[in-house]
Amino acid sequence: MMNKIEAIKQAAGTLGLSNIKANIDIMLKQAEEKNLTYTEFTDNVLESELLYRRDRARDKRIKEAGFPYRKRLEDFDVSFQKSLSEKQLKQLSELKWIEQMYNLIFFGPPGVGKTHLSIGLAYKAAEEGYKVSFTTMTTLIHTLRTADISRRSKVKLNRIYNSNLIVIDEVGYLPIERTDANLFFQLITDLYEQASIIITSNKGFEEWTEFLGDAALTTAVLDRLTYRCDMITLDGKSYRLENRKSFLKQEGNQ
Ligand code: ADP
Ligand code: MG
Repeated sequence: MMNKIEAIKQAAGTLGLSNIKANIDIMLKQAEEKNLTYTEFTDNVLESELLYRRDRARDKRIKEAGFPYRKRLEDFDVSFQKSLSEKQLKQLSELKWIEQMYNLIFFGPPGVGKTHLSIGLAYKAAEEGYKVSFTTMTTLIHTLRTADISRRSKVKLNRIYNSNLIVIDEVGYLPIERTDANLFFQLITDLYEQASIIITSNKGFEEWTEFLGDAALTTAVLDRLTYRCDMITLDGKSYRLENRKSFLKQEGNQ
């Protein structure tokens, strides 16, 4: 009997059925204990392999998305951020806008939740099967600049081009050079109606010319970005400042 199980494990390994290979002993034991029919057993075994693969693919998508940290939509407090209604947040979290290739732009000063919302939405998208890339504008420019000479950048850029959703965080914080603005424009043009983009920015559109350095180019970028797009200006106080934590003042440390 042992030999038979070893043979099954080996065959499962050869076929790339890693979950069956790892767990067939337990599955057989449970099948005997529960008196499963052949049909039930076969169904269970194949289903568990499918679930295992689905989980692995999801973990891989999340890992490759390049999130700097995890943020959950469920932890976003809409009562603190009055510029987004509960209903709007729910609509966004249903992710139909990605299916329809809409873009999202979150404007607002520091600390109002732009990155939190972007990561929350993109994380959910990755969990649900969308290919996602997260980057900041600074990293994106570096990636675009070095794609021809760095394998790492090339891989990253390919991933961006193959994503259903690309988050570009912190657009407009620093002015960029003209050649970089051209690369950015090219990317936005290539992604136009091919993928959804989330942009966060602390600058209103009227200030974009200044950081992209050219009025015609800025108009062309905005034209593409905003054609199918929801723009949400988050305002109010910085959640960070309002909920500032002090090590010395926390309970037990006084
Ligand atoms: P921004 O990107 O706009 O500068 P962040 O998204 O980084 O701001 O938010 C700053 C911090 O405050 C993060 O830890 C974030 O989780 C938290 N935060 C901001 N707004 C909210 C909110 N409405 N509910 C819960 N946490 C929030
Ligand atoms: Mg941010």
